Amino acid sequence: MEETNKDMYELKMPVEIEQYERKIYDLKQLIEISKGLNSTLDYNTLIDSILLTCMGQMQLLNAGIFLKKGIGFENYSLHRNYKGFEIDHALDYELNPESQFVEFLEKNYKCYTMQELEKVIDDTASMDIMKMLDPMLILPLKSKGELNGIIILGERIIHKEFSETEKEYLLNIASLAGIAIHNAMLYEMATTDMMTKLKIHHYFHTSLLEEMERAVKFKRPLSLIMIDIDHFKVFNDHFGHTAGDIVLINVARIIKENIRQMDIAARYGGEEFAVILPKTDINEALIAGERIRETIEKCTVNHDDRDLNVTVSVGLTQFDTEVDRERNAFLDRADKALYLSKANGRNMVSFL
Ligand code: GH3
Ligand code: MG
Ligand code: MG
Repeated sequence: MEETNKDMYELKMPVEIEQYERKIYDLKQLIEISKGLNSTLDYNTLIDSILLTCMGQMQLLNAGIFLKKGIGFENYSLHRNYKGFEIDHALDYELNPESQFVEFLEKNYKCYTMQELEKVIDDTASMDIMKMLDPMLILPLKSKGELNGIIILGERIIHKEFSETEKEYLLNIASLAGIAIHNAMLYEMATTDMMTKLKIHHYFHTSLLEEMERAVKFKRPLSLIMIDIDHFKVFNDHFGHTAGDIVLINVARIIKENIRQMDIAARYGGEEFAVILPKTDINEALIAGERIRETIEKCTVNHDDRDLNVTVSVGLTQFDTEVDRERNAFLDRADKALYLSKANGRNMVSFL
């Protein structure tokens, strides 16, 4: 009898120890993931980090995330940093926050397969979007008790269903991700100009210093563009302040659409903008500056049955490690280049 008990004991222990070891390993992993997700406030880096973490941990071929695009957006849209999914670019992958699908996930904070959701949800609009993506698992994100995103996880490299332990683990990752996204969103709001959705003056100055340091450290070029709307006072006097605001928003949109994701566009002052272009020499900056100027010149906005159109003057310069020992020297030169464009007749690009 004693023998049998001993045998059972010996048989039982290794399994339990293995389970505890697995739990400790998972918790250690979660701590690492938490550190990783909390180390960045940059939205795009964070999204990548969340998706790559899920993919790595669960050996997935595809992953994506639905988030509100930013301040003032209601719908959840599939973030462009999705991995692996085949997307029809003619379609909007959007989920209405008031849809049954979203409300269900908000109420039931759990991982779901499509089959499970199909049984309880008859909101065809959302389900049709989901079916096009066909995820294996749908994972809600929460912060402060409120849904703030939805992760979709696709095909697995190992053709295997998700176990309950894996689902629990994924929910833990999701709760860390939800908080990280909330923080990044707050940071985004605090550093973004509400009207133009470009970065604010203070953020611009901090980023400029950082980019100057990187340019020195990695011996890479850096350029700066200053943009100012021409005769904007006269424009406001003639068309009114509301029309002026619409034009400002439109100019900001054009700037944003004509630069890369890594470039930093800011509202420098009332009707003045600045763009930091890392890894960019003066020749490439000239192309970007001219493209912005030309697009604004050609763009007309209709408001109150009137066609509104403005031009901008542009000044640009490249960072010089020898001369630009401090930020102001670099900024002053871009400003002087802008002044040259103003002095020489406006609606043009100058460089120094
Ligand atoms: P210049 O070609 O020399 O730049 O002439 P300007 O009239 O654009 O320059 P100035 O600096 O004299 O005037 C800037 C104008 O921009 C005055 C101000 O009313 C307008 N402005 C600044 N911020 C805003 C804004 O948020 N909305 C609107 N509608 N106008 C603004
Ligand atoms: Mg102006
Ligand atoms: Mg000005």
